[in-house]
Amino acid sequence: MQIYFSIVMFLIGSCFGSFFNVVGSRLPRNQSIITPSSHCESCHHKLKGLDLIPIFSFFFLKGKCRYCHQKLGIFYPFFEAVTGILFMVCYLLYGFSFPLLIALTFVSLLLIVIISDYQTMIIPDSVLIVFAVLLLVEIFISTGISECLKHVFYGIISSGIMLCIKLFGDFLFKKESMGGGDIKLMFLIGLMLGWPSAILSVLFASFIALPPALILYREKENHEIPFGPFLSIAAIILLLSGIDMNFIIDLLTI
Ligand SMILES: [Zn+2]
Repeated sequence: MQIYFSIVMFLIGSCFGSFFNVVGSRLPRNQSIITPSSHCESCHHKLKGLDLIPIFSFFFLKGKCRYCHQKLGIFYPFFEAVTGILFMVCYLLYGFSFPLLIALTFVSLLLIVIISDYQTMIIPDSVLIVFAVLLLVEIFISTGISECLKHVFYGIISSGIMLCIKLFGDFLFKKESMGGGDIKLMFLIGLMLGWPSAILSVLFASFIALPPALILYREKENHEIPFGPFLSIAAIILLLSGIDMNFIIDLLTI
């Protein structure tokens, strides 16, 4: 039965992945996520049901638009498959439980951030606010008001630390080192993972971002790369690997 539900979670996740792609690429550009309906980027032909099946359509159409035969990017089916895998892993880790709902909400936020920050260097406030409310309501229902307030406190500490890192970076590089979106995103990562794990996610993200940053810097000085996607990847890895740094909080309160 677990295999059956794992496959179902993968399929549901891949459909959500397709939707997150639309949300992440349209919202920062102030476009509606409902209209216009999905269309080919090249010939603008409206896509029908069979063209829109996550992952499957790409292979069925041999990676080309059905109407203009323009090659489609491999990124879309890849992102849908990754979302499917993450949904499946969350199910395998948490089973059908409240923590599964919270984990899926958090992972969904981070996937939308990866798309929007990568494509437009913007993390829309609307996305952050909606997911902050969702996560707080879910944490409140599952653990009660005092735990919920504790998580808010972790979020505030995390974004405060991120603000200090940004101010130090601005001073060091004599220019804006980090966007405001990263500081707000850090509130949600701290809220979810606790502030020690949130700080670890920044270190981890910097480590992952270093190779692409160095390659881009060699090609073109002053090339800016968004930090949000790396921060999101680090937070997803920390969540799913079960690495928990929050024993530091206990050490500090003893
Ligand atoms: Zn086309």
